[in-house]
Amino acid sequence: MPTTQLGLMNPDELAAEHEKQTEAYRALQARGLALDLTRGKPSPEQLDLASDLLTLPGENFRDGSGTDCRNYGGLQGLPELRAIFGELLSIPVANLVAGNNASLEIMHDLVVWALLHGTVDSVRPWSQEPVVRFLCPSPGYDRHFAITESVGIEMIPVRMNPDGPDVAEVERLLSADPQIKGMWCVPNYANPTGAVYSDEVVRALATMSAAAPDFRLFWDNAYAVHPLAEAFPPAYDVLGMADEAGHPNRPYVFASTSKVTFAGAGVSFLGASTANLDWYLSHFGKKSIGPDKLNQLRHLRFFGDADGVRAHMAKHREILAPKFALVQQILDDRLGASKVASWTEPAGGYFVSLDVLEGTAARTIALAKDAGIALTAAGSAFPYKQDPEDKNIRLAPSFPSTDELAAAMDGVATCVLLAATEKLRG
Ligand code: PMP
Repeated sequence: MPTTQLGLMNPDELAAEHEKQTEAYRALQARGLALDLTRGKPSPEQLDLASDLLTLPGENFRDGSGTDCRNYGGLQGLPELRAIFGELLSIPVANLVAGNNASLEIMHDLVVWALLHGTVDSVRPWSQEPVVRFLCPSPGYDRHFAITESVGIEMIPVRMNPDGPDVAEVERLLSADPQIKGMWCVPNYANPTGAVYSDEVVRALATMSAAAPDFRLFWDNAYAVHPLAEAFPPAYDVLGMADEAGHPNRPYVFASTSKVTFAGAGVSFLGASTANLDWYLSHFGKKSIGPDKLNQLRHLRFFGDADGVRAHMAKHREILAPKFALVQQILDDRLGASKVASWTEPAGGYFVSLDVLEGTAARTIALAKDAGIALTAAGSAFPYKQDPEDKNIRLAPSFPSTDELAAAMDGVATCVLLAATEKLRG
């Protein structure tokens, strides 16, 4: 029986396979598709789940403590909303700030203010250091890497395992180099692999010794409440763990409702030690007289309590889970036998990470583009957009309709196979 594994084919079999995939690709191009799997945006149906927000808070513009949310002030954000998300994130209300719509903006502010002013544990502003380095578990989130790259922070890739970053490698680097000042982390359903950090990994990162006293974990819990199955991911008390180990100021915890309510009009959160929050608010107070409290109030009324958030996320799950299942099914059906690709099966979050034959990711993405299927640019999930093996492709199944997703994924599979046969034929 002829093999279906591309890597085991003899030259004649490969030539025949190449012919077949070229035909399939021509047919794909002839369909004139215009599909987009690039960004993890909620679909319109998901946004509709929160449409009640558009008429909230109505005439009742005061929170439980009587604050008039129309006015200036309240830098730390509404306490009642912080209590809801504090419960979901395992962070005491006093250690949580509720902000405006984008947690990325808070991350950017924290990096820039550390460069300008130094953190509470810095001996000088980071900009006066000879060099500042960040550890970057890879593949990771392109916008994290874009922040550090834009300000000239040197990025060091660290291997990502299914249970989080390789902590032995992190420890080796961190203990030796006082210029490593930060590390990007997405502890739950990481972008793009879907990895959930284990208890051991979280504890190791929170407690290990670091050469730099002002080393910071940029702990981006963007997918804290975004399971694709019923079970929620663990909400480890990373602030408490770090505090007990004598590193109270190490974690900066981020979250937002961007993929809970409206991606462009949600509420962001920052959790940190009291010293860190005093520092943050003293700088934030220079750029703002207070966040959008009306938006916070409408979120408070919309959810009611933490169970309200959980119930709302179950509705997202009903929309998202079938799309993720469809991606798995098409990848299995179309690429399983060829053995030229592997992919993650996330239990939550927004992405699937597809690894194709080494040296063919950029070609696959270019082929897809010429067939009207937009994929995230090659190398995006790596510092400086350099995928050392040119094999990683991030897939974002949330936005397209089911039919569009099926067409796009089928097309992606054709491009993966064509690029692989080209490569194997040399
Ligand atoms: N962090 C991660 C890991 C993300 O995937 C995203 C959205 N793709 C964000 C942050 C963006 O968050 P926000 O909308 O709160 O800026």
